Amino acid sequence: DGAPLFASLPGDIAVSFEFFPPKTERMEQQLWEAVEKLAPLSPEFVSVTYGAGGSTRERTHATVARIITDAQLPAAAHLTCVEASKDEIRQVAEQYWEAGVRHIVALRGDPTTPGGRFQPHPQGHASAAELVQALKAIAPFEISVAAYPEIHPEAHSAQSDMDNLKRKLDAGADRAITQFFFRPEAFLSFRDRLAAAGIDTPLVPGILPVSNVAQTRKFAALCGADIPAWMDHLFEGLDERPAERKLVAATIAAEFCRRLYAGGVRDFHFYTLNRADLSYAICHMLGRRPLARAAQEQAA
Ligand code: FAD
Repeated sequence: DGAPLFASLPGDIAVSFEFFPPKTERMEQQLWEAVEKLAPLSPEFVSVTYGAGGSTRERTHATVARIITDAQLPAAAHLTCVEASKDEIRQVAEQYWEAGVRHIVALRGDPTTPGGRFQPHPQGHASAAELVQALKAIAPFEISVAAYPEIHPEAHSAQSDMDNLKRKLDAGADRAITQFFFRPEAFLSFRDRLAAAGIDTPLVPGILPVSNVAQTRKFAALCGADIPAWMDHLFEGLDERPAERKLVAATIAAEFCRRLYAGGVRDFHFYTLNRADLSYAICHMLGRRPLARAAQEQAA
C-alpha cells in the first residue's frame, strides 16, 4: 500500500542509553533533559561512562546514583583498569554495591595520553577479563563488556580478539556491547562468527547516531571504526546547515537500525552523547513508544 518499510515495525526491541558524566552545570542540565526525555521509552538500563584514567570517578558515581534515585532507572556504571590498583578497584566496586548499583560495564580503558600504549598499574588489572573476574568475586554484579565488530586496534588478529571476548564472557560477563560501527554487515557477520564459535551470550550493537561527521572521524580513528565514503558524501556541504544536517543524520541512523532489525537484531544500545533527539527518533521509527505509566507500573 506504499507505506514505508518502517510502518510495519512493532517495537519489539529492548533499548539502552549511554551518557557521559557532565562537567559543568549547563552540561548537567543537558544530561537531565536527555534522561527525562528517554526515560519513558523504558530502557533496560542506562549507563554512565568513566573518563580517562578515572578522572570522572566522583562524577560517574554521582550521576549513576542520581539516575537511580531521581529517574528510577536501572543504571550501570562504567569502570576501567587505568591507573588504579586492585585495592582501589575493590573500593570503587564496593561503594557502587552499597549505593545500589548492580550493573557494571567493565573495561580495560585507554591510556590518558591519546595514542599511547596501555600500561597496567603495577598493582592493577592488566585486562578487562581480569577486571570482570575480580568484580564477580566482590559482588554478584551484572556485567557488560566491550566487543569490536571491526576488531580492536591493538588486537593481533580477529581470532585473538574473539578469544579475548570469550575470556571476558567466561569470566562471567552477561552481555557484550559493541564499539560503534557504520556498516550493518560488520555487526551481523561478527554476530554470526561468535555464534559459529559457540558463543551465545547476548551481543548488543552500540549505535552512534552521527550528526557531525568530522568529529566522528577523529574519534573513529582512535577506536578502529571504519567511516564509509558514502557517509562523507551524504553530509557534504552541510557544515553550516545544522537543521538539514540533523534531518540527514536521523535518516541515516534510522535506516541503519532498520537494517540491523531486518538482520534479526532486537537489542540496541545508543551512544547518546547526552542528547536525546536522535536516539528518541530512531526508537520511535523502530516502533518503540513510551509506555503508559499504568502499564509501566504493572510491568514492574
Ligand atoms: P580488553 O578486553 O582488555 O582488550 C584490550 C586489547 O587487548 C584488545 O586488543 C584485546 O584483544 C587485547 N588482549 C587482552 N587480553 C589479551 C591477551 N591475554 N592476549 C592477547 N591479547 C589480549 N573507555 C573508557 O575509558 N571509559 C569508558 O567508560 C568506556 N566505555 C566503553 C563502552 C563500550 C561499550 C566500548 C565498546 C568501549 C568503551 N571504552 C571506554 C573504550 C575501551 O576502554 C577501549 O576500547 C580499550 O582500548 C579496550 O578496552 P576493553 O575493555 O575492550 O579491553
